[in-house]
Parts: sequence; C-alpha cells; structure tokens
Amino acid sequence: MSRYMKIWQACLCLFFALSPQADAQQKLRIAATTTSIASVAGEIAGSTAEIYAVAPSNRNLHFISPTPKDVLKVKKADVFVHGGLDLEVWRGPLLDAAGRKEFISGQRAIDVSHAIELMNPPEEISRVHGDIHVHGNPHYWTDPVNAKQMADTLAERLAEIYPDSAELFQANAGRFKRRIDERLAEWQKRLAPFKGSKVIAYHDSWPYFLRRFGLEPAGFLEPQPGIAPTPRHLDELKQIMKNGSVKVIVLEPYQEKKTAEKLVRETGAVLALLQQNDAPEAGGYEAMIEKNVTALQQAFLKADAFVREV
Ligand SMILES: [Zn+2]
Repeated sequence: MSRYMKIWQACLCLFFALSPQADAQQKLRIAATTTSIASVAGEIAGSTAEIYAVAPSNRNLHFISPTPKDVLKVKKADVFVHGGLDLEVWRGPLLDAAGRKEFISGQRAIDVSHAIELMNPPEEISRVHGDIHVHGNPHYWTDPVNAKQMADTLAERLAEIYPDSAELFQANAGRFKRRIDERLAEWQKRLAPFKGSKVIAYHDSWPYFLRRFGLEPAGFLEPQPGIAPTPRHLDELKQIMKNGSVKVIVLEPYQEKKTAEKLVRETGAVLALLQQNDAPEAGGYEAMIEKNVTALQQAFLKADAFVREV
C-alpha cells in the first residue's frame, strides 16, 4: 500500500471517529427515569446503547429533584423512557427544562406502564388520599411478570422509532423474558412455604410483588401514600399485627427506620429490607428481585410466622 493510501485511510478513520452522525448510528442514548426502568431498557436496547438513569438508586421515586446534569443528559438523549402515571411527579418539570418536544409529545418517549394492569385503581381520579397513586398503584415493575410486559412495550416502541433494529429489539426482549421465566419459577418455589402470609410495609410499594408470590399487605406505616406515620395510626397497626399474626415489616433503604424499629421492638416482628430502585452496578433488574426474594424469605424464616396454604 502506498504511503498516500495509508494517509488517506487514516484520514477516513479519523473522520468517522469524530463524526457525530457515525457515533449516533452506533450508540443509542436512552435517558430513563429510574434505575429499574433503565436496567430493563438496557436489556432491550442492547449492549451498545448508552443508558442513563435520572433518579439515584434507593431514593423515594415520587420525590426526586433532577440536577442540571440530569437535564443535560435528557436533552442529549435519543429516547426518553419513563414509568408513566404519577410515579415521577418531577417528570414534567424535567422535560420542560430539557426542552425536547419529541419527549413531551411522546414521539420519542416510551411509557412502560402501557399495557400494565394497575392494582387498586380508584373509582374516580381524586387527590383526597394524597397526591401520589392517584391513578392506581404505580410500583408495578416490582413484579417480574410486569417487567416482561415492560420489555415488550420497549421492544415495540423502540422498533417504531428505529425500524432497522426491530429484530434485534425483539430478540433481546425474548431473551430477557425467557430468563425471567426461569428465575421466577425458582423465586416462587422459595417463597411458596409462606404463601398466604401478610406483611406490613412502610409505603404501598409492594402490592404487585406480594401478589406474585401469594402474599398480602396487611397495612402501611404511612396512613396515606406520602403521609408520615402518626401515633394513632401506629396503634391501629399494632392491633392489626396482633390480630393477624403479622410478623414481617417491609422497609426500603430510603425510608425512616426509627418508627419501624420501634414497631419491631413492641411487636416482636422482623424487618425485611426490600429495594425497588437498586444501584446500576448491583447487577440489574434480576439481581434486585433476587435480593428481595432472599430478604423476604430470610425474614419469614426468622419470624417463623408463615401460614401454609392447605
Ligand atoms: Zn408510591
């Protein structure tokens, strides 16, 4: 090869390396509202996609204050993925600040609550019971079966936006769903001995997760979603726990611990620490569900308070 050819080739390489168009074709930039949604989106978009989660892990997802960095990441993203409903009450101001019309219009935004059957939908939309969970319970991704639906929605919508990659998105969704099916059978087996048991949770974050494993919430430390516990409400909870033999209290890392610990001391219950928005470096969506199943299984074993289904 002549010296001039080599120089020409080097120039071409440099041109494509620096060209934003070439980079955009290789990397799909997705901004997601939460780490769990980001994890599922990453599974479907593939390993070359660049995924950014706005909400830091293990924080109250209803009340996040996006930073200037978050606004910039959303502004530069190709696709915006969110949980829909009133989960992220901060989503509107974030999109306004980022100023991306295709995200606000929904053209390049994906609402993963699409096609999810919501639990506890209200008979009419009202804020009488607080400002969150107005449309029904928005914590649906805690159920692995709902994560499969989210995968389908992502594959379908990404294929609409990038038709050339439709097959890749479908194949990735298929792989993710098969893995979830395999793991779910094992998770259900591990929690089966406790089927029918009731737990108390701080916030109403777990109806989908509990239902999947045949468990039930008996009450919440919050008298209404987003409202701090009151002494009178805690007295009522103690009565519910006593009458219903409830021996497990579910807490999340960001929630105030002292009240739950006091309840543990007074009732002899066991705390189970569950997560709905784990750190991205912790292994992704399946790793988070694995940790939740393990935490709950250990809490039930420790409390020795399970009711076997006859
Ligand atoms: Zn909530």
